[in-house]
Amino acid sequence: MSDAALTTVDAVQQAAADIDSDSPLLDAELLMQHATGWSRTSQRAWPERPLAEAQAVRFWQLVRQRATGQPVAHLLGEQGFWSLPLQVNAATLIPRPDTECLVETALGLAVPDQTRVLDLGTGTGAIALALASERPDWQVSACDLMPAAVALARANAERLGLPVTVVQSHWFAGLPAQSFELIVSNPPYIAADDPHLTNGDLRFEPATALVSGADGLTDLRHIVAEAPAWLVAGGVLLVEHGHDQGTAVRALFNQAGFQAIETRKDYGGNERLTLGCKAPGAGV
Ligand code: GLN
Repeated sequence: MSDAALTTVDAVQQAAADIDSDSPLLDAELLMQHATGWSRTSQRAWPERPLAEAQAVRFWQLVRQRATGQPVAHLLGEQGFWSLPLQVNAATLIPRPDTECLVETALGLAVPDQTRVLDLGTGTGAIALALASERPDWQVSACDLMPAAVALARANAERLGLPVTVVQSHWFAGLPAQSFELIVSNPPYIAADDPHLTNGDLRFEPATALVSGADGLTDLRHIVAEAPAWLVAGGVLLVEHGHDQGTAVRALFNQAGFQAIETRKDYGGNERLTLGCKAPGAGV
């Protein structure tokens, strides 16, 4: 029997056997959806539907790419984050579900209306766009060092019709003088020699978005030290970090004079986010 005569369910099951991932069946269904336009629900509802030859060719090409380790998000060109379909590409990090905890935490803060918020190292624009989608009164800006990421975040903002200003800047260095009530960031925080970098999907994401010096803390050190100069008194800095970096990041917040420092856990129960307030009365 040729590939073209395969039913949807047979093709998905054969493909899943070739894909080395935590979720081979889901990956195969998503690739099938991309190759045929049939949603996962429709694939399940009509498993015996035969594939046309062109559909089978497209599907097996995607499966071969996935089998070499290419992330599903890169093959689909899209990844869901919060409630938003975001375009993704190899220029930046694929948004992670853990980062939705950061969005949830930011939205739960007691900040004034029309809060000015800055997302440092925005990548696809995920955090900034999720905040803008939930809080139309907030003034959301974002920056990224990589021009390709700036272009991608701007394209996502435009496609979603969300008013986020994106500028190219290495952390704060290229920003016009201004103050924020809230600064958020999911910076690179993986140590340069971390073996995870040579496994799975991480191999296909740029090191600039993942790696931060020998201990993974170079960028967090810089961001935490510089942030007070860009926050109003009482303003909040909220950052994502590695599961084993909570103690070190709290110490950085402490050294920079932050108050009410706390660490929150991600959906997997790992320490993942730290936040603190610039002291009230500390000046702008
Ligand atoms: N949490 C991501 C991972 O381990 C890394 C994200 C980051 O470096 N900001 O895959």
